[in-house]
Amino acid sequence: MKRKRANRQASKPDHDLARIRILDKAVAERIAAGEVVDRPASVVKELIENSLDAGATRISIEIEGGGIALIRVGDDGTGMHPEDLSLAVERFATSKVNTAEDLLAIRTLGFRGEALPSIAAVSHLEIVSTVGDGSGRRLRMSGGEAPALDSVGAPAGTTVTVRQLFFNTPARRKFLKSPSREFALITEVVNRAALANPAVAFRVVHEGNDVLRYPAGSLEDRVAAVLGGETFAGMIAFRHESAGANLTGWVGRPELARAGRRQQYLYVNSRPVANRIMASAVEHAYQQLLPQGRFPLFVLFAGFPLDRLDVNIHPRKLEVRFDDDHRVFGVVARAIRSALLDARLVRRVEQAAVQYPTEISIGQGLSLQADGVGVREAFPVPIDGTGPLPAMRLLGQVYGTYLLAQSADGLLVIDQHAAHERVLYERLLQQRVAGAATGQVLVTPIPVELDAWQLPLLRTYGEALEQLGFAFEEFGERTLLLRVVPQIAGRSPAAVLKDLLTELAETEHTKTTESLLERLTIGTACHSAIRAGDVLTMEQMVALVQDLAKTDDPYTCFHGRPTLVSVPLTQLDRWFLRR
Ligand code: ADP
Ligand code: MG
Repeated sequence: MKRKRANRQASKPDHDLARIRILDKAVAERIAAGEVVDRPASVVKELIENSLDAGATRISIEIEGGGIALIRVGDDGTGMHPEDLSLAVERFATSKVNTAEDLLAIRTLGFRGEALPSIAAVSHLEIVSTVGDGSGRRLRMSGGEAPALDSVGAPAGTTVTVRQLFFNTPARRKFLKSPSREFALITEVVNRAALANPAVAFRVVHEGNDVLRYPAGSLEDRVAAVLGGETFAGMIAFRHESAGANLTGWVGRPELARAGRRQQYLYVNSRPVANRIMASAVEHAYQQLLPQGRFPLFVLFAGFPLDRLDVNIHPRKLEVRFDDDHRVFGVVARAIRSALLDARLVRRVEQAAVQYPTEISIGQGLSLQADGVGVREAFPVPIDGTGPLPAMRLLGQVYGTYLLAQSADGLLVIDQHAAHERVLYERLLQQRVAGAATGQVLVTPIPVELDAWQLPLLRTYGEALEQLGFAFEEFGERTLLLRVVPQIAGRSPAAVLKDLLTELAETEHTKTTESLLERLTIGTACHSAIRAGDVLTMEQMVALVQDLAKTDDPYTCFHGRPTLVSVPLTQLDRWFLRR
C-alpha cells in the first residue's frame, strides 16, 4: 500500500488528483464510444441500422483491412437535411425519439443518438448525404474534433465512410482479431440484418471484390441466400401463434447442427438480438436430438407486444428484456418442439433420461435389446492387453455414449468420443510429423457450399489446412471443390472442414504456425471422431478399443478429459458390503 502511494507521487500527475473536473468533450466521447463500438463489426451494425431506419431499399457495404482500414456504408434512403448533418454527430441527437414516452414503444432500430458521435470519436469519419435534389452536404471529422462541412454533388441517400478505426485508441485496437476474423464478424452482422430485411438489397465488397449479393426478394429467398441453398433444404419451417406472441422461422434438422452458435439467428420485433432465454429454449427443444457440443441452426422471428419488452438495456442494443422470462421460454420451447414433432424428428412418447432394457434375449452369448437408448448389443468380446491398456472383455455400449468392459480387477467405462479423439489425434500427428501423406485423394471431388465469411478464413489458413490433408480449389462464388481430405475424416470430410472454419472464426488468433497446426490437428481429430449418441456395432467397438490400446496415452483425450475410468472390483464389493 505504502509503495503504491510512493509510486504514484513519483509519476507526478500534472493535475491535482483530489479535485474533480468535467472531462473535455473529446476525452468524454472517446470513453463513451467504447460502449457502442468495440470492433469494426459493431460500426457496420450501427451504420446498416441507420440506413434501414432511413428507409433504404439498397445498402452497399465496402470493407478493407477487416474494417480497420475502411468501412463504407452507402444507402438510397431519405438522406439528412443539410442543416441536420452536423447535429447527427452530436451525442443524444436523434430524429427517432421525441419524448420519454417514445422509449416505451420503440419501432426504429436506432433511438439512442450515440452511434455516429461514437464512431466519429474513434476514427476519421466522412458523411455525404442528400435529400435527393442532387446537392449533397459533406461532413468530415477526425477523432471527435470539430467537423468540417462543405457541399458536393451526390445521388440521393447517405454514404458514411469510416477510416482508420481506433487510430486514437491503441488499447482498443490491440484487442482486435486478424482482419479475416474481423471480416467474418462483419459478414455475420450483414447476414443478421439481411435476414430481417428481405425487401432491401445488400451487397458486400471486400478488398475490392464482390463477396455477397442479396437481391431484394421474399423472406424465403433471403433465408436460402444467407444460409446457402443446400443448408436451407434441411431447414424446417414453422409458424406458431399464442396469446401475445407470434413466432415464425426455420429450424435446422439435427444433422445440420454446428460446432458453435454462429448460425443462430434470433429476432425480436425484427431487431437482431442475443437473448439467452430464447436461445436456450430452442436448444431445450432439441434435447436428445443433438449430442453435447452441437448447436442447432435456426432463424427465429419473434413478435411481442411493444409493452412487454424493453429494448433499451444495452448500448449496442444487442439484448432485450422481457417482462416474463418464464412465459417466453415456454412459448419458444413449445413452438420449436412442435415443429420438430411435425417433422417426425421427435417421438411422441418422450424417452426417460435413463432407460432400462425392455427385452433380454439369450442367444449366442448375451444380447440385450433396448428400445432407443440403452444397451444395444452385448456380446462379450475379449481384447488382449497390448500397450498400457489392460486386457479386457468388452460387454457393449450404453446410452450410445459409453463402452462397458470388464478387466481382471474391475469394470471399465470408456467414453467413445474421447477415445476416438485420442486415436485420431495420434494418427494424424504421426502422419504429419513423418511428413507422410495425411490426405486421401477423392475419386469424385466433393462440392462444399460455403458461407461468405468462411472464404477469407479459408484463404488465410489454407496452407495449414493442406498440411492436415485437405486440398481444395475455389469453384464459383460460394463453392469449394474438395479434392483431397484427411484420411481420418471418415465419411463427412465437408462437415469436418466447416466445423474447423467455425472454430477458427470463434477462437483467438494463433500466432505461431506450430500452435496453429496443433490446434487444427486437435480440431480435425475432434470433429472427425464418433460422437456421443452414435450407435456402434460390436466390430466398431472392438476396433476402437484395439486402436486406443495402441496410442501413447490411452487414458486422456487432448482436452484433458479421461477416455476411460475404472471401477475396481474391490469398490463394487464394498458397495455391496461384501468386504
Ligand atoms: P440514432 O440512430 O440512435 O438516432 P445515430 O447517431 O445512429 O443515432 O444517428 C443520428 C441521426 O442521424 C439519426 O437519428 C438520423 O436522423 C440521422 N442519420 C444517421 N444515419 C442516417 C442515414 N443513413 N440516413 C438518414 N439519416 C441518418
Ligand atoms: Mg443509429
